[in-house]
Amino acid sequence: RAKHWGIGSYEIFDSAMGAQIQAALRMEGELRQAIERSELQVFYQPIVSLADGAMTGMEALVRWQHPQRGLITPDEFMPMAEETGLSVLLDWWVLRETCRQIQSWDAESDLRSHLLFSINFSSRQFAQPNFVQQVETILAETGIAAHRLKFEITESAIIHNPKSAATVLEHLKSLGIQLALDDFGTGYSSLSYLHGFPVDTLKIDRSFIQNLETDPKSLEIVRTILLLARALDKKVIAEGVETPDQCRLLQSLQCDLVQGYFFSRPVTSAMADAFPMTWPGYSSP
Ligand code: C2E
Ligand code: MG
Ligand code: MG
Ligand code: MG
Repeated sequence: RAKHWGIGSYEIFDSAMGAQIQAALRMEGELRQAIERSELQVFYQPIVSLADGAMTGMEALVRWQHPQRGLITPDEFMPMAEETGLSVLLDWWVLRETCRQIQSWDAESDLRSHLLFSINFSSRQFAQPNFVQQVETILAETGIAAHRLKFEITESAIIHNPKSAATVLEHLKSLGIQLALDDFGTGYSSLSYLHGFPVDTLKIDRSFIQNLETDPKSLEIVRTILLLARALDKKVIAEGVETPDQCRLLQSLQCDLVQGYFFSRPVTSAMADAFPMTWPGYSSP
């Protein structure tokens, strides 16, 4: 009986797994096509200086306009993309598309010529032997100067191969590309890495900002990250700012930059056209 039960549950497990694997494979195929058929879209979210409400840049965030399922956010496909290696193609597509968008904005006016554009790269990208070369090729093709860009990476990109990561980061810096550590505070041994790597900016993870007003621990962590950043001469961006109170708190802690729904959700490039250069919703305390 026990054996029967075992076999039966194995079969159920097996067919459920089979369906999952099939769905994953279908999605992988669809994403591969999506990249080719340009079903992907780059959305933009403003990054704002707390000192004066000025927009200092935008983060490029990928979206998938699926023909049947509608708009899909990265949480639903980035894990699969990273596992299958499709994230490599995807990230190149996003870099190229963002550079094209910058070029098109530049052609209209020089309103945005001072803005920094942040692009996310998966850890996998850094293991690409010709990573820096490919970046240079895309910059040359699109005519975008390296100093317009900031690359966002997570600690996991560094941790897997610190030596080669350091080489790649130094090379990017020497081109003039700025570097940010994303989701800061959620990773591993932040301190040792911070010291030796040429990152300009720490992005405090949204989870700490969310609980800023209610959780004394989050407040202490944010305060500590800000002190650390000041000591190491790095800028800080607080992610996921949704309320005026969070803004005020961060300002009193002398946080440089903020990003979040309080200012704008990520939106299409057409909607990002209408971002104000200085934020009107922002009120100085
Ligand atoms: P991330 O780089 O940490 O990006 C910030 C995420 O927080 C974005 O989610 C953004 O929409 C969301 N967010 C911003 N402000 C708020 C807020 O006030 N409240 C809340 N609840 N959320 C906020 P999104 O666009 O879904 O992206 C999720 C993650 O997917 C990103 O996290 C990034 O790790 C990854 N990702 C996005 N685009 C790309 C890409 O082109 N390449 C790679 N490799 N990863 C990407
Ligand atoms: Mg990011
Ligand atoms: Mg983040
Ligand atoms: Mg993230």
